[in-house]
Order: sequence, then structure tokens, then C-alpha cells
Amino acid sequence: MRFREAVCFDDILLEPKYSTIETRGDISLDTQINNLKFSTPIVSSPMDTVTEVSMVKSILKFGGLPILHRYNTIEEQCDLVFEIRDSFEQTSNSDISKISASVGVGKDAMTRVKALHTAGARIFCLDIAHGHHRLMERCLKSIRDKYDSSVTIIAGNVATPTGFSDLSDWGADAIRVGIGGGSICSTRIQTGHGIPTLQSVFDCAHLDGAKLIADGGIKTSGDIVKALAAGADFVMLGSMLAGTKESPGEVFQTNEGKRYKVYRGMASPEAQIAWRKEVRSLEGISTTIPYKGPVSDVLAKLTKNIKSGLSYSGARNLTEFQAKASFIKQTTLGLKESKTHILTR
Ligand code: IMP
Repeated sequence: MRFREAVCFDDILLEPKYSTIETRGDISLDTQINNLKFSTPIVSSPMDTVTEVSMVKSILKFGGLPILHRYNTIEEQCDLVFEIRDSFEQTSNSDISKISASVGVGKDAMTRVKALHTAGARIFCLDIAHGHHRLMERCLKSIRDKYDSSVTIIAGNVATPTGFSDLSDWGADAIRVGIGGGSICSTRIQTGHGIPTLQSVFDCAHLDGAKLIADGGIKTSGDIVKALAAGADFVMLGSMLAGTKESPGEVFQTNEGKRYKVYRGMASPEAQIAWRKEVRSLEGISTTIPYKGPVSDVLAKLTKNIKSGLSYSGARNLTEFQAKASFIKQTTLGLKESKTHILTR
């Protein structure tokens, strides 16, 4: 029997370093995939309670990468792409080249890709729970063969270096890394499989080829900073962007006046019934989270904190940050001290 140790976000901290940075304005969070440039390394998850048209517009405006979910018919998803394009009439070509939509790898994958491409999408996210799979290989190679380098392909999810290298070799430009870590995910409970997301980032970040998107279990700006320090080029957020004004779904109000929205895993029974009318697997849950207001407020706070994070390591950009960052592993008592602890005294 072989075991190896794996660390998660709460296990580690970054060591503060000497800094010459006097203001957060001197720090850049620029990142890119191929020739597409982004000023915020945040990707919104292709989930039906996270990314539709309003979220796409806000995330693009903030310099991040939004990915439309695929849990609708091909016609409905194309209509969303048209709606986004229409809203860009006075914006730039650079936004149009960033219209991104997710697709599965099943029988209708190429039909969906073709329709979305005709509608205007140029980034495709091949979105499956276990991405290190023969169906992924076939689909990735088919898209690459048909569209060559005129489209950008994001693929995932994987959790191991072999998975990362294979998807990269099959043609992915960016890869979602993380299995079983999502806040609404029950994959590890139901199947016993998974690797803490941060460990997978450490394991894959040094590999050549595709860009790395850390995905699943990111709950604070501190976790984002740790993922970027470990080598991620982007982080993908679900729960941190859900519950905002721009996330799809109604705002509910309790008798006490508390407002909330639904956030659900795409493998939750509720989501599966909604999009395929039957429950085929059970690897996610549906829940409610407090209403957070406009996503621009959430993103503004996050980017300030991420920049402060780089400043603690004395780094002016992500490349410098990844070169300088050093980690310590904290004990459980250290974790207790790391949290705001006056309230539990
Ligand atoms: P969060 O940011 O921790 O909320 O995690 C979001 C991520 O969880 C998504 O980007 C997906 O990778 C993953 N995910 C979404 N739905 C499910 C599900 O039903 N089961 C397992 N993982 C899921």
C-alpha cells in the first residue's frame, strides 16, 4: 500500500517577504491564455446558478473570464451567446474574442460546438467531472482538428500531472485542475476519489503546455492568493460568485428579511432533474446562500485582497509572485490562530 501526503488550502500559509511596493496600484494581476489577455485571474464557473448573460458581462468588464454553462438546449445556449454579442455593440473586439461557452463530450458535442462557433463563441470549455478520459481525448482532438488554433480550448477537470499532460498533449490551452474539492461537491464522499485542489495545483503547475485554472474549494481571497502562489494562472470560482445580483436565479426573502439565492452542484439531483429530467449520478448538493449584491463589489474586494497578498511577498506581478513565494505548513493550532479567534475565546 502506498500513501503520499497531500495539503489543502487550510494546511499552508505563505511566508511574508521584504517588500518595496508602496501602493497596490503598482501590482498587476495580468494573466493570459494564448493571445487573450486578462487583467483579473478569475474565471466564473460554468454552472447554472453562476454564469449566464449578466455574469458574463460583469466578469468581462472586470477583466476576468466568464464561461457560459451548458445546461440547456443548443438553441438556448446560442441565444445567450447572441444576447452577449448584442450587448457588445459599442465594446471592443477583444470582448467578442472572449465569449466562452462550455460543452460536454457526449454525442452532440461537435454539433453544439459548431452552433456556438457560428453564434460567435471562440473559447470552448470541455466540461466533465472526470476529464482524464477517452471521451475527452476524442472530443478535444476533434475540435482541434476542425478549428485548428482559431479557437481556445479549456478542458477538465483533472487532478494529476499525467491527466494534465495528457489533456495538454490532446490540444487543451488551459486546464481546470481539482477533483472533489467544490463547496457543493460530494464526489469524495460518494466515490472515495479526489485530491485536495491545492495539492493538485502544486503537482501540475511546473508542467509545460497548457495554462492552469485552479478549480474547487476556493472560499476566501487568501485561498486565491495561495492557489496563484502555487502556480495557478487563474482560479475558477463557484460559491464566491454565486448569490450575487448577476448570478442566475431568484432572490428569496425570509420573514426576518434575510435575502438569499440558490447555489447548486451540477450533479445535484435538483440540477439534473432541471436539465436532463432524470438523476443519473449523485455527486453534488443544492443549497441556499446569502444574497451578496452586485458581483462588481465582490470582485473589487477580492482583487484588493489578492494584490495585498502579492505585496506581502514583495511581488509586483504573478510571475514574480510564483518565483518568490514560499510556504509553511501550519498545525491545527496554527489554523485556529489563523482564524479570527476572539469570538471563540
Ligand atoms: P466552489 O467554487 O468551491 O463552489 O466549486 C465550484 C466547482 O465545483 C465548479 O467549478 C466545478 O468544478 C465543481 N462542481 C460543480 N458542480 C459540481 C457537482 O455537482 N459535484 C462536484 N463538483 C461540482
